[in-house]
Amino acid sequence: MINEPNRINPIPELLDALVGGLREDTGGTVASYIPELAYADPEHFGLAMCTLDGHVYAAGEADVPFTIQSVSKPFVYALALDEFGLDEVMRRVGVEPSGEAFNAIRLEPGTGRPPNPMVNAGAILTTSLLPFDRILDGLARFAGRTLPVDETVYASEYRTGDLNRSLAYLMSSLGALTADPLESTAAYFRQCSVRVTASDLAVMAGVLANAGAHPVTGERIVSRDSASQVLTVMASCGMYDFSGEWLLRVGLPAKSGVSGGLVAALPAQFGIGLYSPRLDQHGNSVRAIGACEELSARFGLHVMNPVVRKASAVYERRDLSGGIAVRRLEGDLGFAGTEPLTRELAGSPPSALVLDLDRVGDPHPAALRMLDRLVQSLAEDSVPVVVVDHRRRGLLRNAETEFGSLGEAQQYLDRS
Ligand code: GLU
Repeated sequence: MINEPNRINPIPELLDALVGGLREDTGGTVASYIPELAYADPEHFGLAMCTLDGHVYAAGEADVPFTIQSVSKPFVYALALDEFGLDEVMRRVGVEPSGEAFNAIRLEPGTGRPPNPMVNAGAILTTSLLPFDRILDGLARFAGRTLPVDETVYASEYRTGDLNRSLAYLMSSLGALTADPLESTAAYFRQCSVRVTASDLAVMAGVLANAGAHPVTGERIVSRDSASQVLTVMASCGMYDFSGEWLLRVGLPAKSGVSGGLVAALPAQFGIGLYSPRLDQHGNSVRAIGACEELSARFGLHVMNPVVRKASAVYERRDLSGGIAVRRLEGDLGFAGTEPLTRELAGSPPSALVLDLDRVGDPHPAALRMLDRLVQSLAEDSVPVVVVDHRRRGLLRNAETEFGSLGEAQQYLDRS
């Protein structure tokens, strides 16, 4: 899965050069408020990128383990969203950027509800909603492998975790935290002590970028909605009190942690994982930030500056005798790819329509609904619509019938 040195593919070389160049930046300091974290090798620097077809590019020390710390927060939030739904989770944890440091003691006046799930108070509350084995198992499912807990870091954080325990007691006294404060913080410390590598983080971010499905195995880890909700909260709150400037300059939903880890995801394109322990004044890894800034600029990754996709999903049109229209579609189908077809068919309806969806991958539910509504309207005007799909996924419920091949569909319409 990890890339082999390759003279032809320019990407490994670009990533190596980027890591090599940034190694010279020795600015920042390794976190030491959790004493065990201070033992990290400050020179370590790893970068990995996971494509949505499951290829992992890795540069530098992408396989050096470290504790995940706050980078766990978005993934545990995703698990909670998946379990309880957005409204229920939002009743307990807000989604407003606090613009403050990760350990800020700021809760909603009156209710004690924490501002968002990316600061410690919000993360402790999110953790309290789930049994710990679900959390550990969920993080492992994101990564696609079992992840160990670093017991030494856990013990170190447990010993020195009074501020987090205070936050939990404060939330408890205000009625926001309903689980036991000591148990909730212990579970949160364990979650932060899960050991990962930059490559793991790239894959985990890849799941979010891939609308909740695992990029390597295809397994669904969280729902499409949960994945997009987490990415949104990462975009607004993921980088401590640097979140606004980060989104402006780098333009990637991301989350950093005090051990020097960082995940970033470009929806529908890839996930990135980084590790370098020296932190800036906001608590973000200096080199990880530098690497993301450079990657974003060089590869054009800003989420608000996407590749413009005007292309219709139709790759072939055939108009047969008798007014039978054949339209063959490909790709994952979103609004922009589907809309031209609806406009065309509404403008000049055929007498019968074959929609070949064989090459359609993972269509967006909204695009499918739109297409199905079109099929329904055509049927109401006595235009039969048949689907071709050798996987027979039954994507369009309003279609008259579905065939495994184009030939069968044509024969059927010729006969009727
Ligand atoms: N476990 C750390 C804490 O709660 C995580 C902080 C972070 O990575 O931002 O202090």
